[in-house]
Amino acid sequence: MHTEVVAPNGESLALAKEILKRGGLVAFPTETVYGLGADARNDVAVASIFAVKGRPQDNPLIVHVHPEYDISTLVEEPKEYVKQMMHAFAPGPITFVLNSKGVVSPRVSCGLNTLAIRIPKSESALSFLRAVDMPVAAPSANKSKHTSPVTATHVYEDFQGEIPLILDGGRCVGGIESTVVDCTGDIPLILRAGIITAEDIRAVVGACEHAKSGGPVKSPGTKYKHYHPHCKTAMFAPEEVKKAVALATEWRKEGKTVVFLVTEATQAALTLLGEREFYPLGETPEAASRNAYYYLRKAEKEYGGLIAFSLPETEEYRGVMNRLKKACSNE
Ligand code: AMP
Ligand code: MG
Repeated sequence: MHTEVVAPNGESLALAKEILKRGGLVAFPTETVYGLGADARNDVAVASIFAVKGRPQDNPLIVHVHPEYDISTLVEEPKEYVKQMMHAFAPGPITFVLNSKGVVSPRVSCGLNTLAIRIPKSESALSFLRAVDMPVAAPSANKSKHTSPVTATHVYEDFQGEIPLILDGGRCVGGIESTVVDCTGDIPLILRAGIITAEDIRAVVGACEHAKSGGPVKSPGTKYKHYHPHCKTAMFAPEEVKKAVALATEWRKEGKTVVFLVTEATQAALTLLGEREFYPLGETPEAASRNAYYYLRKAEKEYGGLIAFSLPETEEYRGVMNRLKKACSNE
């Protein structure tokens, strides 16, 4: 199969709609990461997302719709706090887990009675969703376990020859996946951290907690190995630069080249120890989120190993830190 990579325009969006209507897959940009979309109502199309990604069968998908789409056709009437959250954060990088009406393919939710809904805000995502005007089931457009894609090239690298169309909207500004919030209980519960934080949600509706790990897994995807680039990875605390250099030295003896994913502080400390190869993660939670996947993907092409440093244990860094930790763990 030929894989076309093209900017969203009248012609490519009409083609995207044709492909989805026929049960095919289209990759599209959003403000978080690229998604791999199918018509959520088409059982066979949804099944093919799992097949092409190599995605575990119990890891449900998010349904993407444009802001004018009537979601009351898909989910039960949401609670009052959800309406407030939607008013404050949607369109945006947040996903609402709601009680499903069961009208999309049951494969989307992997048999759960809930449905995850997201209304993205980037212009390219909106032009795509408005053009196709249907509920689009989409996980991130990467092979299962691989680092999520933040450019059309990243998507092409994983799915060249396997999907017909990638809409190229440039580099994603958010850089990590949406905040997933269980909105079926009395208060919002964060299942997956993202750029919109628990504090942001509390400021609007008064309450919000992170779902406890260890109990029954509400967001099944969170239990799998994730985000790993195709190179060696490791993570140290910022105070452990000496240990990081020792590991880099070991990897170099094995013939690997090594890059450090740094802040200004860790770069300064590593420079004193003679290191020279750096990727700048950035100095704010927004910059770190935007850059993390981008550099993980760059590292796998340019180096044999990447060494990262842990970020402050604050709510703002929670989303990106969660991703980096998984990308740098070898479990
Ligand atoms: P991905 O887009 O590949 O990052 O995966 C979608 C994420 O949304 C995964 O973490 C899923 O577990 C989560 N998700 C999707 N639908 C539901 C649902 N109905 N209930 C809980 N979590 C969900
Ligand atoms: Mg994913």
